[in-house]
Amino acid sequence: MVIPHRIAEEFRQNLLNWGRNNLINYPWRKNRTPYRVLVAEILLHRTRAEQVVPLYNSLLSKCPNIFSLAAMDIEELRRLLRSAGLRWRVDLMHRMARMIVDEYGGRIPERKEDLMELPGVSEYIASAVMCFAYGHPEPLLDTNTVRIAGRVFDIEIKDSSRRSKKMRELMRSLLDIEKPDIFNYAMIDFGKKVCRKRDPDCIICPLQICSYRRRFAGTLVKK
Ligand code: SF4
Repeated sequence: MVIPHRIAEEFRQNLLNWGRNNLINYPWRKNRTPYRVLVAEILLHRTRAEQVVPLYNSLLSKCPNIFSLAAMDIEELRRLLRSAGLRWRVDLMHRMARMIVDEYGGRIPERKEDLMELPGVSEYIASAVMCFAYGHPEPLLDTNTVRIAGRVFDIEIKDSSRRSKKMRELMRSLLDIEKPDIFNYAMIDFGKKVCRKRDPDCIICPLQICSYRRRFAGTLVKK
């Protein structure tokens, strides 16, 4: 599906306007370095952001850079992150750090192919590092961001949509290439605060072009 330029522009501007006053001030959104972004995105995988905040702060104070993370004792790292569960993720993070030190001299890769070869780095995490750390105009596809696009443009969303090439291209056409980081943060936060999975807040939603809203216009109630 191709979104007409005018509609994509309207979507983009409305979302960015909303983001001006509504972005959440997470610690990993400040002082962004490739290392901090990478570590945050790994911790955020399948874990609520509020739960990640203290883990992220503890990890950063113990391991302020990739070299200290690679050198950290694995048992100590498991203890530090045990409240996040998923022991396998901690082990992958440790292997990833060692690989970055051994193969890249400690520099976090910038290319998607290189990032995705690192243990524990999915396409979403690679795209997030490219966008938030290096400023590349990379769309972020997860269940929340594809749900927004699906509702607005009346596209059937399946579990596989976030891995779909067509969906990626559609999301790319919506992205603000001048401010891809702000656009992606706005998408993430909009999916959390307004266009929620259950009970989206369509009455206050600034996306007037939304198909879902038109379809259910008669049934929407103010909260
Ligand atoms: S109108 Fe409702 S469904 Fe559409 S984007 Fe806004 S909150 Fe989501």
